Amino acid sequence: MDSIFTFRNRFFESLPADPDTRVIPRQVYNACYSKVEPTPVKSPKLVAVSKEMAELFGINESEYRTQKFTETFAGNRLLEGMKPFAMCYGGHQFGNWAGQLGDGRAINLGEVVDVNGDNQTLQLKGAGLTPYSRTADGLAVLRSSVREFLCSEAMHHLRVPTTRALSLVLTGEQVMRDMFYDGHPEFEPGAVVCRVSPSFIRFGNFQIFTARKDFDNLKRLMEFCVRYDFPHLVTEEKEEINTEIFEQWFDEICKRTADMVVHWMRVGFVHGVMNTDNMSILGLTIDYGPYGWLEGYEPGWTPNTTDEEGKRYCFANQPQIASWNLHQLANAIAPIIQRTESLENSLGKFADYYNQKAHDMYANKLGLDEHRGDNDQQLISDLFDILQVSETDMAIFFRLLSNLNESESYSNEQLFKMIEPAYYSPKEINQDKQSIITGWLRQYLARLVHQSVAYGERKIRMDKTNPKYILRNYLAQIAIDKATEGDFSEVEKLLDVMRKPYDEQPEYDSYFAKRPEWARTKPGCSMLSCSS
Ligand code: AMP
Ligand code: MG
Repeated sequence: MDSIFTFRNRFFESLPADPDTRVIPRQVYNACYSKVEPTPVKSPKLVAVSKEMAELFGINESEYRTQKFTETFAGNRLLEGMKPFAMCYGGHQFGNWAGQLGDGRAINLGEVVDVNGDNQTLQLKGAGLTPYSRTADGLAVLRSSVREFLCSEAMHHLRVPTTRALSLVLTGEQVMRDMFYDGHPEFEPGAVVCRVSPSFIRFGNFQIFTARKDFDNLKRLMEFCVRYDFPHLVTEEKEEINTEIFEQWFDEICKRTADMVVHWMRVGFVHGVMNTDNMSILGLTIDYGPYGWLEGYEPGWTPNTTDEEGKRYCFANQPQIASWNLHQLANAIAPIIQRTESLENSLGKFADYYNQKAHDMYANKLGLDEHRGDNDQQLISDLFDILQVSETDMAIFFRLLSNLNESESYSNEQLFKMIEPAYYSPKEINQDKQSIITGWLRQYLARLVHQSVAYGERKIRMDKTNPKYILRNYLAQIAIDKATEGDFSEVEKLLDVMRKPYDEQPEYDSYFAKRPEWARTKPGCSMLSCSS
């Protein structure tokens, strides 16, 4: 493996390091990162590897099934060229400036070039204390690590921009967690995920410098980010990064962030903790904590129990929160850019850009040839109403919709039957409710007649947009329960189902099912805390 990974460590080499090497909780000034090595663990055991990610690094199965691989990605050994470090960043948590946060339990191992020639940073999450651990232990438990590992890969296959995961290992150590912060701490198995991303820079990496009026380092980090994470904005290597380039950079960040959130809305994903320290500068979904998937369509739903009251990060708020976070980023970089008109302009265009992308996305979900303005917008907003007539599984509803054929004539009963499997309590849907639902379906069919897309072609397009399989919270929980007992087969199986979320995969039909009733109230299935 040493020969496979060639580390180049641009972040580490180009940006100022914290001269202090003490691993104690402290404020770190005038530095982008602190040098810190992963804490070795007792008896690491490999739980799972993403074979796609292994392939991306040219690692075959016989290589990743070795003790050396497990030891490396548990943090027990450093490969030649690795220069481990934890990043310094701040952030707004739930709308309030929280000061320095930083990689409290994530340790970057270094940057490598993958088989496609792209830059990737390898990062261990749960690898021990860093100067940014504050009062916490620097560790992660199996439960949250399985969720992060599986969801990173699932999101990738769903075509949602995301950080990735290479491996998941058990540390052989026990970690104390009070899962619901209610005075009932228990030991849980510790685990480490190796996350992978072209860059782990977050909005908060810039914010911390501005908050401390450290404009030299702010500018250095901005230049680094443009040069290495957005190289297409720089034509010549030696070119000075001027104001225009910074403005284009910010505009692109706005667009990428909007794209990411459009994808979340498409697949029914709720991030759960959209704090500015959890916003990737590349517009990738990052930090899989108390995330969740809409099952019954409920715009106000949040999986995060910490957010139960305010529901700041609920499903429907995500576009608006993304915009709020981008405002904070604009405030952070403004001191270097100085003229703010262009930043304001990009922020002002965010809503238009988002709406346009969202219109295209909903047109694809419904198989419309294009979003034709007001009438189609009405059809879409009526759809959101009928999805709330009775608890409706979002993923199943959209997947079934592509079976409707505009050249057939259906009775109301037939129409309703076609989508009935999407309802959690079909018996509760009386005649009135049924006619609201079939009324919309008829409106929809009437709209489809007015386009020249053949049924078969439309179905293919819809089925590529509306996943058949999503990483339902209860499915992940079943895999976690089994993994806790030492059986990793369900983790493997879910990883496999989620490889082809848009394909029929009849062998996995049992995963195309509504959340069972027992999962409605079970911790981990419907409600999650930030404890991880
Ligand atoms: P999160 O809510 O997971 O995005 O974390 C917010 C901040 O808390 C980040 O700075 C994390 O690194 C830090 N953090 C979360 N859990 C731990 C932990 N177990 N040990 C140390 N730091 C942590
Ligand atoms: Mg975080």
